[in-house]
Amino acid sequence: MASPTDGLGRPLGVLRLSLTARCNLACPYCLPDGQEPPGLLSLEQRVVVVQAAVALGAHSLRLTGGEPLLHPQLEHLIEAVQPLRAQGLREIALTSNGTLLNASRARALREAGLDRITLSLDGADATSVARMAGLSDPRAGARTLEAVLAAIGHARDAGFDPAAGALKLNAVIQRGRNDDQLLPLAELCRRQGLELRLIEYMDVGNRNGWSPTDVVSASAMAERISSRWPLEPLERDLHSTARRWRYRDGSGGIAVVASVSQPFCGDCNRLRVTADGVAYTCLFAAPSSGLDLKPWLQPSINAVGLEQALTQLWHSRRDRYSEDRQASAAGHEHAEMAYLGG
Ligand code: SF4
Repeated sequence: MASPTDGLGRPLGVLRLSLTARCNLACPYCLPDGQEPPGLLSLEQRVVVVQAAVALGAHSLRLTGGEPLLHPQLEHLIEAVQPLRAQGLREIALTSNGTLLNASRARALREAGLDRITLSLDGADATSVARMAGLSDPRAGARTLEAVLAAIGHARDAGFDPAAGALKLNAVIQRGRNDDQLLPLAELCRRQGLELRLIEYMDVGNRNGWSPTDVVSASAMAERISSRWPLEPLERDLHSTARRWRYRDGSGGIAVVASVSQPFCGDCNRLRVTADGVAYTCLFAAPSSGLDLKPWLQPSINAVGLEQALTQLWHSRRDRYSEDRQASAAGHEHAEMAYLGG
């Protein structure tokens, strides 16, 4: 089956598959409700979903949540999709807050066939980490900071090489909450040899009280870091969510996901499937716009029907929310980020 393009001519390239809506943190920009949706997909059903997406052209699988390390079958799923590399799956990546990533888990993920890990840390000190992770006090922040720093070491030791882009650090920056952490986070990542992926604060979900005045733009973030360690801009790769800069002194670089100030809907090639098997074509999709895939997954698997349903969904896709945020946002309820998988 030829790879379909959507209503704006964009191919399907990335499947973001959420394994759980639960998380062990409560970041104020996401505010997971800790509830798992009813009717979670089985391991077998998830493999069929990945297979269908790969058949339609997806070359990259990103495993998300909530917090995917809470999912007991994560390694089994990564192992089970390895044969799809022969059908076009080129990369399997994981987005995790890192707090549960100990040495044995990092090794198990690598042995299962995981290619890349992106961890999250929104501050370089205990107080900031506590504030941005929705934790009660700085001591909990200190424990979380320590756990994520240890996770970086465990991932590196397990073979996720930062220099090869196999280990990166995400940080959501919100004005007045943690924008004072830009230089400390940049310093931490320079020390660790990690790419710092900064994320503009977004109006995801319906609970974070987002306001455009709380957004620090990509160019302002790069300017602040460049004032300390000079940066030079790089071209944005096609289909990439991030703009990138490299340090003039040769010690790596930073990236910024600029969904608000420099949207990238024009070549967005991402499909999201939730833990209970609902497919969404945009991070800012309305809850009712999702396509429930379970009719093709139970009581028995209908792989051909599933591919046809996903093809139709993708063909009809015209999402470009961030490019027209003001008009799109008016009265528009969003599916929650922890449910969608970010
Ligand atoms: S707003 Fe929607 S269409 Fe635009 S880049 Fe994000 S997910 Fe893609």
